[in-house]
Amino acid sequence: MIFRQLYEETSSTYTYVLGCEETGQAVLVDPVLPAWQRDLEVLATLHLTLRYTLETHIHADHVTSAARLKREVGSRIAGPALDRLLCTDHPIEEGVPFRVGEVLLTPLHTPGHTDNHFAYVSGERERVLTGDALLIDGCGRTDFQNGDATALYRSVTERLFTLPDDVLVYPAHDYQGRRVSSIAQERERNPRLGGGKTLEEFIRIMEALDLPYPKLIDRAVPANRACGVLPERARRHASAGASPQG
Ligand code: FE
Repeated sequence: MIFRQLYEETSSTYTYVLGCEETGQAVLVDPVLPAWQRDLEVLATLHLTLRYTLETHIHADHVTSAARLKREVGSRIAGPALDRLLCTDHPIEEGVPFRVGEVLLTPLHTPGHTDNHFAYVSGERERVLTGDALLIDGCGRTDFQNGDATALYRSVTERLFTLPDDVLVYPAHDYQGRRVSSIAQERERNPRLGGGKTLEEFIRIMEALDLPYPKLIDRAVPANRACGVLPERARRHASAGASPQG
């Protein structure tokens, strides 16, 4: 399997390319709208065609390029079924493997950052794409989008930290240029959730973060609920009688 980690710097987002060498088909996990051409160029360099985009959750800090890529190259849009988005072509469900050629992903419902968040374990459990549930030395915030610190604690400690030690952790973001960790490393030294932190300790840490209001949330969430069609564009579509769902 071909695996690449791509970085979009305005939102500090990692997008992942997973490609099948036999069929030449690829999945892009959490692609970001301003980088859609870069992503297609990378796929072309790797001799891959885009079959699916796949989301870990409805993002508040950037807009997905899922709808744009579908329009450009006919890729299909996959994302959590729980979100019930009209624009999703392939709803992802807990425990139902997602397969594109030799690319195999096992979806793990990991709520807490958002209620419908999923992580994806690849192939023979060599790596896990943790979305915003588990970041390197951190985790996603739990104060918006039906976030819930108790739910996130359970998702991380009961679902992600119970994966084998050497599973590589690939997060959806890093703000300091770190690229990869492992389950053992996060379980031991993640300052919020590792080292045997209790639920009460975690809740206190999350309550004390005092984070600013997410700058893009009011624009990004409605757009991402339409798989990346920006609200003003959706309104134009609607007034022209077209579907706002991309
Ligand atoms: Fe997020």
